[in-house]
Amino acid sequence: MTTYRAGQEIDSYCTKCKLDLTHKIIAVVANKPANVECRTCYGSHKYRAPKSASAAANAAAASTKTPRASKSAVSKASTRGASEDAPPAAPPPHAHIFIYTIAERFAPNTWISHKTFGVGVVIRELALNKIEVRFDSGTKVLVQNTPTAS
Ligand SMILES: [Zn+2]
Repeated sequence: MTTYRAGQEIDSYCTKCKLDLTHKIIAVVANKPANVECRTCYGSHKYRAPKSASAAANAAAASTKTPRASKSAVSKASTRGASEDAPPAAPPPHAHIFIYTIAERFAPNTWISHKTFGVGVVIRELALNKIEVRFDSGTKVLVQNTPTAS
């Protein structure tokens, strides 16, 4: 087992020269060169294994590791259903837009024009006298099928 000592010479990758060069060990931590000084540029930096050696080591490590097929690539396809919160599309070009009155009864997917909320589409009938309608400003519950007392 190699013992490293400060002052000893060692091959290290120099981060400044960007080459594998002879370095002098400045500090040893846990019997590993921690900081080294480049004999070429005299810059000191952390010890880095020579590129050639680390490349070989990486290659060896890569070959011993079981290649993991990336099953995580399974599409996280949008499980979002038809987005209920999406603003309503504009009514189809030939859609008949009914004028909303509380006396009228509206079927789902009917386009209606409300004097306050504007044009929206009936999402569903909540009750005989209630419909849920999607407007640009949001979903509203409107009264329907309720004859006005006069
Ligand atoms: Zn250097």
